[in-house]
Amino acid sequence: MDRHVTKRSWVEVSLGTLRRNYELYRASLPEKAEIMAVVKADAYGHGDREVARMLEENGVRFFAVSNIDEAERLRNAGITGKILILGYTPPEEAYRLSVLGITQALLSEEYAAALAAEVRKPEFAEKCAPLLCEFAIDTGMNRIGLDAENPRHSGEVIRKYREILGIDGIFTHLCVADTDTESAVAFTEKQLSLFNGVMDAVRDLHLPYCHCLNSAGGRTYSCAPYAFARLGIILYGLKPDRANVLPAGIKPAMTWKAVVSMVKDFHPGETVGYGRTFRAEKEMRIATIAAGYADGYPRALSNRFYVLLHGKRARIVGRICMDQMTVDVTDIPETAMGDAAVLLGEDSGETITADDVAKVTDTIGYEVICDIASRVPRVHVD
Ligand SMILES: *Cc1c(COP(=O)(O)O)cnc(C)c1O
Repeated sequence: MDRHVTKRSWVEVSLGTLRRNYELYRASLPEKAEIMAVVKADAYGHGDREVARMLEENGVRFFAVSNIDEAERLRNAGITGKILILGYTPPEEAYRLSVLGITQALLSEEYAAALAAEVRKPEFAEKCAPLLCEFAIDTGMNRIGLDAENPRHSGEVIRKYREILGIDGIFTHLCVADTDTESAVAFTEKQLSLFNGVMDAVRDLHLPYCHCLNSAGGRTYSCAPYAFARLGIILYGLKPDRANVLPAGIKPAMTWKAVVSMVKDFHPGETVGYGRTFRAEKEMRIATIAAGYADGYPRALSNRFYVLLHGKRARIVGRICMDQMTVDVTDIPETAMGDAAVLLGEDSGETITADDVAKVTDTIGYEVICDIASRVPRVHVD
């Protein structure tokens, strides 16, 4: 750790692991295919500036974020590659998009019209550089985009706004590519074929950036016809779906730690925490850990999960509080104040993944890592 970090609760992000994940995934793609690194939500909690800088140094030229503030942060951090905003930016922010040289996704015909109205204002024309945009295409997610079932109309809309909005690409999003059942695979193939239909409708425009594969889609489908794959979760070393198998060598890049703030002996009958939900049945030793739900640790894990201490599992006893939790260390007697517990990650051969947590709280690994609060400092190591 090269900068001072308060050792209460913190996340260590291995940039070396991230780089290897990127290289391993890249090696599995056809030679010319590139990657758009999806670094929205602070790079899924890994620290967007550090992650994007490392990736740009290693040849990544495309980045995706969720909003204009994330995009601006990357530009201010020195990222020079293409940055695509996947979601809504108020049309009146057109000038900011232009100044920052950010690519905006066009979410609908109505959205394109509103953005074009901004660009046509004389003050924009005088002061600002042309915009950069890509049109979202809806192939079945039914969230944003032009209707791919009507490729001719989609093509006309793209042509209509191409000049004024600087359209240089189209993209769609797959909604069941993480699932390998027959019906899911059929749906993904239908989505790809609908997208290819819109690509055909605008082929004469030679748009350089046509893309559709996410982490899940990239497991199965060739990136060859597309400009790049948009890679999020696999980059960070997690599975799109718990049932998926990752390419060999891909590993989670983050370790979440929190210190032991107190160790206490319990006698039979004593209880711990709010609601007195845990009662000692025998002589026990309980350690207090300096992290809670305000740090993003799911309260639903109360009495249901464990952390690692000295490479061993210490089960959570009692309710998880806002800033603290308590764990059973009866069988880990060496536990002392100041020890670092591992909440996510590896410790002497034992591992807790975000997917393990997600299974207990009935969600996905994505949510677990995105929920780690900003008050938990991120420390980047090689
Ligand atoms: C978040 C997102 C991605 C990345 O998805 P992963 O499953 O993390 O690879 C790709 N494309 C779009 C449009 C997204 O919103």
